[in-house]
Formats: sequence, C-alpha cells, structure tokens
Amino acid sequence: MKIFKNKVLITTTFLLVVTLFAAYQMAESWGFFAHKQINRLATFTLPKEMFAFYKQNIEFITEHAVDPDKRRYAVNDEAARHFIDLDRYGINPVDSMPHKWEDAVKKYSEDTLKAHGIVPWHIDVMVKRLTFAFKNLNVDQILKYSSDLGHYVGDAHVPLHTTKNYNGQLTNQKGIHGFWESRLPELFAKDYDFFLGKARYIENPLEFAWETVRASFAAKDSVLLFEAELNNSYDADRKFSFENRGAALMRVYSEDYSKDYHSMMAGMVERRMRSAIIGAGSLWFTAWVNAGQPDLSKILTKKPSEEMMKEIAEEDEKFNHSNVKGRSCD
Ligand SMILES: [Zn+2]
Repeated sequence: MKIFKNKVLITTTFLLVVTLFAAYQMAESWGFFAHKQINRLATFTLPKEMFAFYKQNIEFITEHAVDPDKRRYAVNDEAARHFIDLDRYGINPVDSMPHKWEDAVKKYSEDTLKAHGIVPWHIDVMVKRLTFAFKNLNVDQILKYSSDLGHYVGDAHVPLHTTKNYNGQLTNQKGIHGFWESRLPELFAKDYDFFLGKARYIENPLEFAWETVRASFAAKDSVLLFEAELNNSYDADRKFSFENRGAALMRVYSEDYSKDYHSMMAGMVERRMRSAIIGAGSLWFTAWVNAGQPDLSKILTKKPSEEMMKEIAEEDEKFNHSNVKGRSCD
C-alpha cells in the first residue's frame, strides 16, 4: 500500500513538473521577456517627432507586447498570425510562393494559407492599420497596433516560427522552441549590444516581412542541428536542471547546456533580436510617414481609453484561465 502510495505521489509530482514545464514554455514564448524588450527598445530607434509620444507610453508598448499571444485564447484567427511553415511549400518557398495575399490564395486557397501561418501578410496588414490610426490620431489604435506589430515582427525573426518542425517535435527535440526564443534571451540578453541607430523608412513592408522570414528560414537548420549535436554529447541529468519560478519548481535547460548551445549559435539570437528591434521601430516609423507625419504632440497627454483597457483585461482573464496549448508558442 505504501509502495502504491509512493508511486502515486511520484507520478503526480512528475506530471505536475511536466505540466509546469509545458506551461512555462508556452507562456514565455520569444519569452514574454524578449517580446517586451523588443518593443521597449524599438521606441529608442524613433525620430524625435515620434519619440516623445512613445516614451510617454513606453510602459503600455512594453507590457502589451505579449497581448497577441494571450489573445490566441479569445480570438480564433489569432494563432495563424504568428508563424508561417515555409517548408510546407517546397524547397525555395520564399521564391516560389506568390508574395501578394490574393495571388497566394489563388495558388493555395485561403484555408491552406491559414493552416500553415500568415505572419508576413499580417505584418503588412498591421502596418496599414497603424497608418490609418496615425491619420486619425487615434491613441488607442496607435498604441495597440504598435504593440501588436512589434510582436509579429518579433515572431517573424524567430527561425522556429518558419517551420512545421516548430518545436523540434519531428526530430525528438521537443522544447527547443522555448529554449531558443525564451531561455537563451533570458539568460544572455543582458550582454547583447542593443545600440541600434535610427529607424529607417521601409519602401515595401510586405517585402520586408518576406525577407525577414527568408532569413529566419535559412537559420532554422542550424537551430535544430546544433541542438541535436549538443544533445548527443550531454547526459540527460546535465542537460536539465530545476529552478524556482515563483512558487513552482520548473525543469529548465541547465545553464551549462544553455551556455554551450548559445555559443554554438555564434551570436544568432542577438542578431535576430537586434534585427527585430530595428525592424519594429522602422515599421512604426514607416506607418507614421505614410500617414503624412501627423503631429503627435497633439495627443501627447492622452491616455488609452478605459474601454480598450477593459477589453484587454478580459483577454488576459481568458488567457489566465486557459490551459489549452497554442500552436505558435508551445
Ligand atoms: Zn507570438
């Protein structure tokens, strides 16, 4: 009986740890940490005509960098906006796929595109929405769309957001998604160089988005192969360790393993993060220029509406009570 009880206890503990580990990976995608960093640092790339307004709202832009991930639990169409499984479309997908949405729909059907992710097109849509928000000097929309756009630009920079093997599930590397985009920046971003210069005008945001996923896709083999190689040289008990996260004990990739993998990446995480930051700032700037460079000092003291904050709080609530695992971030 005692043995049975112990067995139940061990099994329950194991399941709890596994569940917490899964929840950790899901909740921390491009770490919540990295997404927030990307949005926050992107504000510093803006010209002074924009910077005053963004600085005034830097907490909003930072905190709400992760709303799109939370929204996946409230909005059906949300999940597809965070990725594109390019390897569903042949060997040189970025060259062979039509880049315009209408042409891609004609070739593959809307259902297929949505099933395999739509991040490049959605970035373009968000730039247009943000342009419209600037034209109307609509504070709610400027803040919301800037935060969202920064998120999608961030996701498009993550190599594992461009492949069907997004969590190493096809190559026995489950967990690599959170490892690369969450654990590594959390451990090492403090040493990254985030002096990035100024945002630039982007002539064609859709093409910019395609070039971004092209670079991510080109990097995804290294992300997977180097981890597989490292895994072969590590015992499981050195690969993982346990860390206290709040009240919970979490199984995480050990610091040694993370350090070795990070140096095998040879600066890739830093480069992708830097590119995401300057990319987000540049697309915000582009939307503002396309809107006719409206005078943001007119809305400098305006706050986001209570109505929008309530809406966001409701999405948060759904996220907090959800234990459904999403496609884009697990
Ligand atoms: Zn995301």
